[in-house]
Amino acid sequence: METIKLRPHHLLCTQGYSGKGYSKAFVSYMDAVVERLRNNEDEKVEIVFTTDNLCENCPSKISNGVCKSDDKVLRFDKGVIDALRLDEGIYSYQELIAKLDEYLASGVEDERLKKICGDCEWYPVSACWKNIKTKKYII
Ligand code: SF4
Repeated sequence: METIKLRPHHLLCTQGYSGKGYSKAFVSYMDAVVERLRNNEDEKVEIVFTTDNLCENCPSKISNGVCKSDDKVLRFDKGVIDALRLDEGIYSYQELIAKLDEYLASGVEDERLKKICGDCEWYPVSACWKNIKTKKYII
């Protein structure tokens, strides 16, 4: 199976996702991706600083590398890049989210997460902070 390509802020979305999304196709693909990431300790991901596998099935993708919400999502990506000092490349998904969740949980409540993506439309809908705080998907 091919390595899943993820843009940096999707390290957050893949933990917060709780079955809701932009379209039927998006939700069904997201279900398959999170199932794989959440259940395989050794799963590797390729971090890309552009549109990724999840964007492929999203109605907001305009073209390769361009999302309708770039004003927000590029800022979300940068927040995660800075928190983890990330470069593009292959990583262990578990190692990345363990490091990221550690960083986020060391602030006061969800202040660090909110600083990265608090104005995302899914923030009040999904279980982002709850899952990160409880380290729900750390195997
Ligand atoms: S909203 Fe943009 S960044 Fe998020 S999955 Fe869709 S295309 Fe990708």
